[in-house]
Amino acid sequence: MPGVIAFIGLGSNLQNPISQLQRAKIALTTLSQSELIATSNVFGSRPMGPQDQPDFANAVAAIRTELSPADLLTQLQEIEFSQGRVRKKDQWGPRTLDLDLLAYGDLVMTTERLTLPHPGAHLRDFVLVPWCSIAPEAEIPGKGKVCDLAKRCMSHGLVLLDAVP
Ligand code: ATP
Ligand code: CA
Ligand code: CA
Repeated sequence: MPGVIAFIGLGSNLQNPISQLQRAKIALTTLSQSELIATSNVFGSRPMGPQDQPDFANAVAAIRTELSPADLLTQLQEIEFSQGRVRKKDQWGPRTLDLDLLAYGDLVMTTERLTLPHPGAHLRDFVLVPWCSIAPEAEIPGKGKVCDLAKRCMSHGLVLLDAVP
């Protein structure tokens, strides 16, 4: 299948986070014009921003897609809503499911609703460690190799929660 390799960051800290991510991985197999290539183990991490909320479960998935970046984001947001995501104004608050489009090939772009690569991806161990594990050669355009960045970024206390069988 032709198309572009895209990476998606999955996060949850409400309503059984590990099973939220398991459901989300299944939902990613239903994206149109796309195929799921790989999913990482699930890691636990301390929340960013407000600390009075549960720890997060995080994982990264790789897909091959023929969707445009905007259409892909729309479908990711539909999956978030189907798993009970409530959009709030407060940044980095608790949520049942967060799906961030980390990178779409080597595309660099900024629109009102989409920045690529994701502006926080290169700073976050809970993104970089699982990402490096499924795509050791991956690079973040303008930032460097994912596995190199994983060694240098700030720690959010990663622990392995659930290994992919
Ligand atoms: P962060 O983006 O720092 O991880 P967040 O995931 O909590 O924070 P959200 O509230 O989920 O932020 O998203 C806010 C908006 O970010 C979304 O409505 C979306 O339009 C926009 N956005 C911009 N770039 C991206 C991207 N690469 N992936 C996902 N959403 C993005
Ligand atoms: Ca996010
Ligand atoms: Ca998000």
